[in-house]
Order: sequence, then structure tokens, then C-alpha cells
Amino acid sequence: MRKDDLMNNLASVEERVAAACKRAGRDRSEVTLIAVSKTKPVEDLQVIYDQGVREFGENKVQELTGKIPELPQDINWHLIGHLQRNKVKYIVDKVKLIHSVDSYRLAEEINIQAKKHNITVPILIEVNAANEATKFGVKLEETKQLCEEISHLENVRIKGLMTIAPNVVVPEENRAIFHKIKVLSVDIAEENIDNVDMRIISMGMTNDFEVAIEEGATHVRVGTAIFGERNYNI
Ligand SMILES: *Cc1c(COP(=O)(O)O)cnc(C)c1O
Repeated sequence: MRKDDLMNNLASVEERVAAACKRAGRDRSEVTLIAVSKTKPVEDLQVIYDQGVREFGENKVQELTGKIPELPQDINWHLIGHLQRNKVKYIVDKVKLIHSVDSYRLAEEINIQAKKHNITVPILIEVNAANEATKFGVKLEETKQLCEEISHLENVRIKGLMTIAPNVVVPEENRAIFHKIKVLSVDIAEENIDNVDMRIISMGMTNDFEVAIEEGATHVRVGTAIFGERNYNI
């Protein structure tokens, strides 16, 4: 995409994030914008980086590990897509946050690999809030228990929840889903589980990030509105 278009897109997303914060009576600093760069060339990421963005999200391990050496080393990478256990070892020491943990077995593998590197790895629990058959994520009613189980893994730290809301025509339709995640987050925080905090709520994408911010998102994952439509055929 042309540099000007990328810069304009980013400015417009930034404006909308700020406006949503304002409507919700929240400070802009409470919301982190993650630029979701999957399928996009590193040149496009560099343009967004040059505008000051340091948080980037990718959903495939191979694409992520390919891009890391091509770009500045102070980027904070977010793994936001489904993660297979056999790929954990390639990214565990390279990402700021893994958003998509939805099973004990996956957390266990992250723990094993984290130990090898002598690090603790921050993760989010992915919740399938609308209970969609096509989506990964743990059920709302099973989330608390999964947090408790994972909390015993020494080298993993739960930092909050993540959800991918349904693909709706009117973003307002997802408000109730986002609200449910916020309520669940408060509920789990009140349990005071050792090693578990609920500071992060990762929700909201191009279609619905403003509603997500109004409902308490701390991290929004925006791809298309910044980088343009994705073409999976090239
Ligand atoms: C692709 C993707 C996004 C960004 O989607 P857009 O609609 O392009 O903003 C956000 N979160 C996840 C998990 C994704 O895979």
C-alpha cells in the first residue's frame, strides 16, 4: 500500500481510538493499539513503525519468525492467532504476549519452553464468548477454572482475557459480548488467584474496536483499518 494511505489510515484509527476513549471517560493511555500486520509486507509495517507504533500482532508463527529479523528490534510482538503446541518453541522468547491460550496442554508446553529460556511468559486466556463452533477459545463458564489450573505453572503468567467477537454487520451487536468479557474479568480478578491478574482485556478489531473500548478493552487488535484489505490469494 502507498505510504500516504497507510499514514492516513493510522491517523484515522488513532483518532477513532481517542474518540472512543473520550466517550467512555477513559484516558487514551489505558488502551493499547496493536497493529495487526498478518499477510502484509515488512515495508508496510516499517511505515507504521516510523509513525511511532511499537505493538504489532501476527497470527502465524512462521510469518512472525520471518518478519522479526527484518524489522527494528524494539517492536513488541503479539501472537494473536491459534498456536499449536509444536510451534511454541519457535516464539516463546520472542513475543511480548501470547493472546490465544485456550487449553491447559498449550499452557503446559509454553511453561516447558519458558523454563528452557529461564523466562516467564505472559499470556491471555482466549474466551469463545459467543460460543461459536468455528472459533477457538474456552467457554465463558470454564474460564475461571482454566485460570486456576494454569496458575500453578511456574513460568507462565496470566495477564487477562482475549476474545474474538462474532463477525457482525453492525458493531453494536457485539456490545453485549464485550460486556460479558469485562464482567468475567472482574469476577476472576476478585478471586485473587496467585499469579493471575486481569489487567488486560484484548478485544475489538477493525469492525468493532470502538464498542470494545467503550466496554473496557485495554488492547485492540486492528488490521484492515490500518493496512487495508488482506489478499490471501497472492
Ligand atoms: C486478523 C486478526 C485481527 C485483525 O482483524 P481486522 O478485522 O483486520 O482488524 C484481530 N485479531 C485476530 C486474532 C486476528 O486474527
